[in-house]
Amino acid sequence: MTYIHQTILKLQHTSPAQTEFYQAVEEVLNSLRPILENDENYRHHAIIERLVEPERQIMFRVPWVNDLGEIQVNKGYRIEFNSALGPYKGWLRFHPSVNASIIKFLGFEQVFKNALTGLPIGGGKGGANFDPKGKSDGEIMRFCQSFMNEMYRHIGPTTDVPAGDIGVGAREIGYMFGQYKRLTGRYEGVLTGKSLLWGGSLARKEATGYGCAYFAQYMLEAKGDSLAGKRCLVSGAGNVAIYTIEKLYQLGARPITCSDSSGTLYHAEGINLDTLKDLKEVRKARLDNYLAPHPGAKFIPVSEYPDDGHAVWRIPGDLAFPCATQNELGAADAVELLSNGCIAVTEGANMPTSQDAVDLFRDARICFGPGKAANAGGVSVSQLEMAQNASMQTWSFDEVDRKLKAIMSRIYQNASETAREFGKPHDLVLGANIAGFRRVADAMIEQGVV
Ligand code: NDP
Repeated sequence: MTYIHQTILKLQHTSPAQTEFYQAVEEVLNSLRPILENDENYRHHAIIERLVEPERQIMFRVPWVNDLGEIQVNKGYRIEFNSALGPYKGWLRFHPSVNASIIKFLGFEQVFKNALTGLPIGGGKGGANFDPKGKSDGEIMRFCQSFMNEMYRHIGPTTDVPAGDIGVGAREIGYMFGQYKRLTGRYEGVLTGKSLLWGGSLARKEATGYGCAYFAQYMLEAKGDSLAGKRCLVSGAGNVAIYTIEKLYQLGARPITCSDSSGTLYHAEGINLDTLKDLKEVRKARLDNYLAPHPGAKFIPVSEYPDDGHAVWRIPGDLAFPCATQNELGAADAVELLSNGCIAVTEGANMPTSQDAVDLFRDARICFGPGKAANAGGVSVSQLEMAQNASMQTWSFDEVDRKLKAIMSRIYQNASETAREFGKPHDLVLGANIAGFRRVADAMIEQGVV
């Protein structure tokens, strides 16, 4: 039995029923095979055994009262995975699907992603199985305050600095920051993704999507190609999808799809960004409302999706950008994308592509930008927000965007040079995982058994 297989079996025993977590660990460990097999030092220091076990896992009750005066109870999580490179840094997600497995897989991935940025940040993740949809402002505020009543004990500007993810935007960060300040009496950079009025960074909102588009640009440039005129299939219609679309336009491409949990929108002449932002950022409306001002577009409701996949990936396009959620692009989708001539897949979301689909892209030798590298723009600008808070400075939008572009270039170079070093120049999954792993693992060795 291989070392990797043994590790997964042990995890299944010690952390039962955490499917998404095993999937993430297996994906990472498989790509670390070349380095684990050839370097006894990492085994000697039990680096893998230590890496797959979070430094700390906090689970807590979040009681709150709804507008009808009824007491509600949710489950809150903060998983402080690894602090070898700096304070734990990673998102908070409020979504009914949140459970210990999902938070653990996200935290595990975050460790490598943060390492890959080259910035001084460790990895963590948190959230709650709370659904903000349909809740009043008062309910959201009471939930966030109750969540922070426990969380404030575990976080701090030099220990653990959470940010927003699905279901956690500037409003939720505001309510949590307010409660933190009330509980501790301190005004400090303990959360990122803050409002621009009180400590947020310009271009943070745009960072993940912009970074994702930059990453696609670097992958294509390495092949002597460019984004100009490319038809882009984007899934999702949230923060990452919208700003991927915005930067793709700026770089000369033509995004033709987006989607939400009600269905897929296809607009062959290009998604109208103003309408999309108005629908999603202002009116918080469903995507089918796009058709009124744009009758030439087509909406495919979820009920008409193919049994084995997602409608976005069945539309012919040159480049794919899964930007919605985990496991949204499966093997049947990958087959369809490849037969339609897709030449690059860039992951805006975390682990949106199933392992068998990744294998198909790798075998076909098309460009594949793993989320760990391609969506690291968000965490990178979060770190720039921490830097601005700590130095009491505010940088301009262009300055942050320039720094983001440079960081994405460094991430791409780091992943592709490492992939080349290990004899697999096309394999950015391997390159990103090994480059991130080496930085964390070497820091752990230098810091001793802690
Ligand atoms: P948002 O909540 O802003 O948007 C998510 C979008 O995906 C929404 O349009 C949502 O539709 C859609 N979606 C979610 N779940 C499903 C589903 N099961 N089926 C179909 N559509 C779905 O989230 P973000 O854009 O911030 O995040 C998207 C992904 O990117 C996540 O994987 C996140 O972890 C990752 N990410 C985000 C970063 C950030 O800075 N925001 C940083 C790095 C990664 P609906 O509204 O109808 O539910």
